[in-house]
Amino acid sequence: MTDHRATVVIVGGGHNGLAMSKQLADRGVDHVVLEQGEVADSWRHQRWDSFTLLTPSWQTRLPGAAYEGDDPDGFMDRADIVAFIEGYAQTTDAPVRSHTAVTAVRPAHDGYDVVTDDGTWRCRVVVLASGANRLPAVPAFADAVPEGVVSVNPLAYRHPDQLPPGGVLVVGAASTGIQLAEEIHASGRPVTISVGEHVRMPRTYRGRDIQHWMEAIGRLDERYDEVEEILRARGVASPQLVGTADRRTVDLNRLTDAGVQLRGRVGAIRDGVALFSGGLGNHCALADQKLDRLLDEIDEWIDAQGLAGDVAAPERFDRTRLPTDAPLTLDLGRGETNTVVWATGFRPDLSWLELPVFDGSGRLRHDGGVVDAPGIFYLGATFLRRRKSSFIHGAEDDTADLADHVEAHLRRPDDHRLVPT
Ligand SMILES: Cc1cc2nc3c(=O)[nH]c(=O)nc-3n(C[C@H](O)[C@H](O)[C@H](O)COP(=O)(O)OP(=O)(O)OC[C@H]3O[C@@H](n4cnc5c(N)ncnc54)[C@H](O)[C@@H]3O)c2cc1C
Repeated sequence: MTDHRATVVIVGGGHNGLAMSKQLADRGVDHVVLEQGEVADSWRHQRWDSFTLLTPSWQTRLPGAAYEGDDPDGFMDRADIVAFIEGYAQTTDAPVRSHTAVTAVRPAHDGYDVVTDDGTWRCRVVVLASGANRLPAVPAFADAVPEGVVSVNPLAYRHPDQLPPGGVLVVGAASTGIQLAEEIHASGRPVTISVGEHVRMPRTYRGRDIQHWMEAIGRLDERYDEVEEILRARGVASPQLVGTADRRTVDLNRLTDAGVQLRGRVGAIRDGVALFSGGLGNHCALADQKLDRLLDEIDEWIDAQGLAGDVAAPERFDRTRLPTDAPLTLDLGRGETNTVVWATGFRPDLSWLELPVFDGSGRLRHDGGVVDAPGIFYLGATFLRRRKSSFIHGAEDDTADLADHVEAHLRRPDDHRLVPT
């Protein structure tokens, strides 16, 4: 039995769901946003206390809204982000139903039934905006962490004081891993960081924030159907960037200088011992090389625009320094390392989507967010349609494109039924 009807149901009241709501409202498409908690719930409940965006405030923009504060080059903290997204929901008058959790999406004869803990919605289109980072992506061998050693993931981590005293192994050196390694080390705990493939970036280059250059050279606009190996591109880690008032670069050299121990990828945990791969040198060399290539591209762009005289001189950064004779094991059972932080990435929770749209690895099958089921669309994943898709400002173009797809789907002559409201 259905209790409610809408032409489009958007699942999730994060920035992506709200941006899609704005696009549909602009196109006159009737819709509702179902949110299990409150608007901006992930930022309220799934980020650590000291969290700040790694993207500068001038880059925090959504369809029809831009940052209007007095520090465009600063970095928003959690309260700022929540306020920005809440303000957006209000000014766009988004039809959000808070505290309404979607528990199932099933095919119905004229579209889909969206089952919630507050009745069932019948609709023709479902937009999955429930977040690509809802759950930690932790390797299976995390289960082998010995008893007595605490495992923490970044969605549950709040501050160093919640961790027991003693050593900490941070697994993963993307944006989250380096931030947490720096913060936990500063709390007086010895930290080892396990480093796999990573993306090295300076906070500023030639006097400007690196994100300025990333936008200028068009890197963030690269499309999913223009890159080779999109699945690989979607798996690339977030850049080693942090957003702080002193605009510091936090790279592996900085962590080494602070006293953090670098190791390679954890390949397994056996009998309480973490086994590191010997590939640390290769991963660092590759990241250094890719950084040089990016800086070359920026320099070429600056020259081509004739801007060289207006900005600081080109610069190249020290190679990543490697530890000498670093052991390839860390015994987690000796009482020296009491915590493992799994900064190994995130994944969506689409367990309620009762449709045959997942591949053998459990990944949603979609073409730039157009899911392999008529009338189902997806938002927010890394490189969904563009390199910027997982950033807040990526929602501008992605929701515009996908709202066009929604409209086209609703116009189909073989799918002419209008849902009575
Ligand atoms: C640690 C971290 C740091 C990040 N830093 C940056 C950054 O610096 N700059 C940047 O631009 N981006 C950053 N991002 C990426 C991105 O902007 C965020 O992940 C953002 O929260 C994604 O927005 P979203 O709307 O897609 O999903 P979310 O914000 O996760 O919103 C999804 C919403 O759906 C709701 N929901 C989930 N399941 C259900 C359900 N079954 N029923 C009803 N509602 C449901 C949730 O409660 C939530 O409110 C970061 C992400 C992470 C994880």
